[in-house]
Amino acid sequence: MPHSITHDIISQIATRLEEAELNHKDLPKITDDFPDLTMADATAVNWEIRRRKLARGHKAIGMKMGFTSNAMRAQMGVSSPTYGTLYDHYRFENGATISFSELIHPRIEPELSFITHSELSGPDLSITDVLNATEAIVPSIEIVDSRFIDYKFDMVSNQADNSSSARFIVGPQQFSPDIIDAQAVTCQLERNGEIIDHGSGAEVMEHPAASVACLVAMLDEVGKTLPAGSFVMTGGMTRAAASAPGDHFVARFSGMGDVHFHFSQ
Ligand code: MG
Repeated sequence: MPHSITHDIISQIATRLEEAELNHKDLPKITDDFPDLTMADATAVNWEIRRRKLARGHKAIGMKMGFTSNAMRAQMGVSSPTYGTLYDHYRFENGATISFSELIHPRIEPELSFITHSELSGPDLSITDVLNATEAIVPSIEIVDSRFIDYKFDMVSNQADNSSSARFIVGPQQFSPDIIDAQAVTCQLERNGEIIDHGSGAEVMEHPAASVACLVAMLDEVGKTLPAGSFVMTGGMTRAAASAPGDHFVARFSGMGDVHFHFSQ
């Protein structure tokens, strides 16, 4: 089947989405103007945005999976996972203060992240394959920031938008997959001292390593692999929590410590 849209349209959509991110100005979902856009087209947009960021000197340091839990898919009306690239300038250390004004309408997701020591490739890796290639599991927080008005989007628009990726905070300590059972880890999310949600690793595709395997399968569809040394965010363990300027978030992971950050006023 011939490709449905031209490189020129891919380029136009990439420009719209990057301008929305860089100017922190939201826009209607892409499929309002391009209703025939396919997941393959959206993936091409996603990789075009990556090409532009790398050309400007940013580094790709890993990947994120989105919509890996039933709770998150139900919250957003999305039917299957999407993925995005994590860049060096999205990364913050534990306890950081993060500028709210550089974002549109950030939401908070506690996640388990995997650091790989070997390249992963292919369409059907097992949980064991992923764990055998894992150097460490790290508690973390993703800050998503859909470039779409009121988070009104569909799966295709979200995939074009790098799966809403915006910022992430890396926890204080790394753990060997031999001593941490990612599936059994639980998490409590607090906003300004109030408990707002709970979740567990089992809510991430039954096992967070399955999310990594799913990512590798999606990369395989476009002839790509997951390089050794990747930092992979496996998906939210809770629903995504709304935020406001000045908010303080803490995610408390069982047996793995706390990850926290402040938004600036
Ligand atoms: Mg996430």
